[in-house]
Amino acid sequence: MNTKVFDWRMRRNWLASIRHYAGHVLTVELRQHLSQERPKCWSDDFAWLPDSEYVLPEFVAGLTSYYTHFKGFHGCRPLKLASYYERGLLGQDSELLCDAFREIFSDVPKEDVDSAIKQFADRSDRERGKMWLVGSDEFLVKQCGHYLIQGSEYLMALAAHLGRPLSGEDYRFRLRNYGIPTILEVDVPVGLVPAAQHVEVAKMILSEWGQLAARRPLGFGGEPPCYVVRQDIPPDCVQGHYHPKQIVDPHQGNRPYINGLLTCDVCGG
Ligand SMILES: [Zn+2]
Repeated sequence: MNTKVFDWRMRRNWLASIRHYAGHVLTVELRQHLSQERPKCWSDDFAWLPDSEYVLPEFVAGLTSYYTHFKGFHGCRPLKLASYYERGLLGQDSELLCDAFREIFSDVPKEDVDSAIKQFADRSDRERGKMWLVGSDEFLVKQCGHYLIQGSEYLMALAAHLGRPLSGEDYRFRLRNYGIPTILEVDVPVGLVPAAQHVEVAKMILSEWGQLAARRPLGFGGEPPCYVVRQDIPPDCVQGHYHPKQIVDPHQGNRPYINGLLTCDVCGG
């Protein structure tokens, strides 16, 4: 099968590719219309797009048959990386996370640890198997650094519920001593991404296309698309990983966090 990967960071590429799958709806006439009217081509309000109830679904269908994968980036702080390459991304395994939690906080009274886990039992059911990826690694490092610095949000929430000991230690910061800040690059098969997110990506692309046609830029470089995958992602989708040297730390007033752990069990040689 011919692999075609949609990479949000490669704006020029995906703009140029639109004609291969959506030429029948984004016509010369439509382009001329936008060029004359110069509307604001928002991604969340398609008043600017004539026949949008027809054009949008056609565009989504074209997009998702043209591309085979969406490139997504996952931020994490794993102890080891080999399992991603051997087993893929398995979603949030809350039992594994609870085991890690017990290990990291083995000095804290067991009843406190158990009570924190119990409070989150509901949440673990809701969140089970959910995997978050975004279309830009730069966005992860600059806007969502806590996933890299402190790891799973689930572990952070558990740690926050342990309360504060007499020593004054903020338990959440202890998570910074375990694992290696990592960005995984993953080509997610289009079929593993929920249909609602296909539509979101399509709207973002259409908006960019419209702004160009209308010569009315609304500012690019905001939030990249988000891919929430609820199934296991096979290991052959993992394209690579790296460990950023510097990460913006949202829990320390956005100061830079300097990461000294630049190799792991996979890339360390
Ligand atoms: Zn590594």
